Amino acid sequence: MAEKKRVSILGATGSIGQSTADVIASDPERFEVSTLTANENYKDLAQAAIRLNAYSVVIGNSTHEEALREILKGKGVSVLSGQDALIHAVQPETDLTISAITGVAGLKPLMNAIKNSTAVGIANKEPLVAAGAFVMEEAKKYGTQILPIDSEHNAVFQVFDFDRSEGIERIILTASGGPFRTWSAEEMAKATPEQAVAHPNWDMGAKISVDSATMMNKALEIIEAHILFGLPAEKIDVLIHPESVVHSMVEYVDGSVLSQMGASDMRTPIAYTLAWPERMQTPGERLDLTQMKELHFEQPDVEKFPALKLAYQCLEKGALSCLLLNAANEVAVEAFLRQEIGFPDILNIIEFALANEPDIKLESLDSALEADAAVRKSVSDYIDQELSQTKTKMKA
Ligand code: NAD
Ligand code: MG
Repeated sequence: MAEKKRVSILGATGSIGQSTADVIASDPERFEVSTLTANENYKDLAQAAIRLNAYSVVIGNSTHEEALREILKGKGVSVLSGQDALIHAVQPETDLTISAITGVAGLKPLMNAIKNSTAVGIANKEPLVAAGAFVMEEAKKYGTQILPIDSEHNAVFQVFDFDRSEGIERIILTASGGPFRTWSAEEMAKATPEQAVAHPNWDMGAKISVDSATMMNKALEIIEAHILFGLPAEKIDVLIHPESVVHSMVEYVDGSVLSQMGASDMRTPIAYTLAWPERMQTPGERLDLTQMKELHFEQPDVEKFPALKLAYQCLEKGALSCLLLNAANEVAVEAFLRQEIGFPDILNIIEFALANEPDIKLESLDSALEADAAVRKSVSDYIDQELSQTKTKMKA
C-alpha cells in the first residue's frame, strides 16, 4: 500500500468540510488527517476529529477552547484556538489542504496552506475573487498545485488542456439559476432569507445559497474562472442549466465542446481533488441519464440578475473592483441574513461600493486586506443609513 495522503481541512464543519470528511471516511486506508479547523462550531469540530482520527484541531473563537478540550480529552487530538492559530493551522509537509472557509476570512489561512502543502483544493472562491493574483503568485512561488473544488471550475479543470490552451475558444460556466430563476422582480423584492437559502439542487452553506439566489455566486465564479484559467472575460460565458447535470464546458477552436457531468453532489469534485491525480470510488450520488428526460440550456436574464453584468464590468476595471464586489457582497449578505435589509438591497449595496472605490493601490496582500477592510466599513455605514431610511419608510 502506498503511503497515506496527509490532508488538512480549513472549515471542516461546513457543508464542503463535512462532504470532504465523508469522502475521507469512505477510504481510511488512503488518507490520514492532520488538522481540522472551524470558527464557532466546536462540537461538530470535535466529532469530525474523532471520526477522522485527526492529529489536531483549531477553533477560531477561543472561548470554546476549554469545552473543545473537554470533549477531546484522552483522544490524542491536540487543541489550539484563536485567529493566529487558525491562520497557521496547516503545518509543513501537508500533502493536501482543502480550503473551505466561507469568505475572505479564509484568505490568510489559504496563503499559509499554499506555503505548507503540496496541493491545495480550493472551494473557498472569495479569496480568489478578492486577491486572486496574490494567491496564484504564492502557489507559483512554492510550486503548489491548485485544484478547484467549486463544481464548475472542477469540471473545467477536468477538460481543460493546460498544455495547449491556445486551442481553447471559451469556457462555458453553467448556472442552475438559483431558487428565484422563475420569480418576478416583484416577488424577489419580498424574498426572505429562508426562501433565498432554499436552493433547488444543492445543499450548501447560507452565504453561498444567498449568492445563488442573487446570482452573485455565478458572478464570483466568472472572476474565479479568470483567475484559475487565465482567460480574458470575453472567453468566459454563462449558460443557465436548471438541471445541474453538465457542470461546465470548454469549447475548443475546432468546435469540440468537452464537458464534465455528474449528479449534483459536491462529493464528486471533492473526491476528484482528494484523489488527484488518481481517481477514487466515491460515496456520492450517481448520475442516471435515463432518469433525465430533458436538459435545458438558456441565456441568463442579466436585467433580472444584474450581478452577472457587474462581474464583467469588474474584470474590465481590474483587481480592485473585483475585491470591492466581493467585500460589499459579503457584508450585504450577512445583513440580509440578519434581516436588516431586503433582498434587492444586496445589489444596491454592491453598486454603491463599486461607485465609491477607496484610494488604495493593490500592490501587496496587505494592501488588499486594507482595501477589503475599508470597503466593509463604508458598506456597513451605508447599510446603517439605508436601514434608518427603511425604518422611516415603514413608519410612514
Ligand atoms: P458553510 O457556511 O457551510 O461552512 C463554512 C466553514 O467555514 C465552517 O467550517 C466555519 O467554521 C468556517 N468559517 C466561517 N467563517 C469563518 C471565519 N471567519 N474564520 C474561520 N473559519 C470560518 O460554507 P460552505 O457551503 O461549506 O462553503 C464554504 C466555501 O466553499 C465558500 O467559499 C463557498 O462559496 C464554497 N463553495 C461551497 C459549495 C457548497 O456546495 N457548499 C460549492 C462550491 C463552493
Ligand atoms: Mg459553483
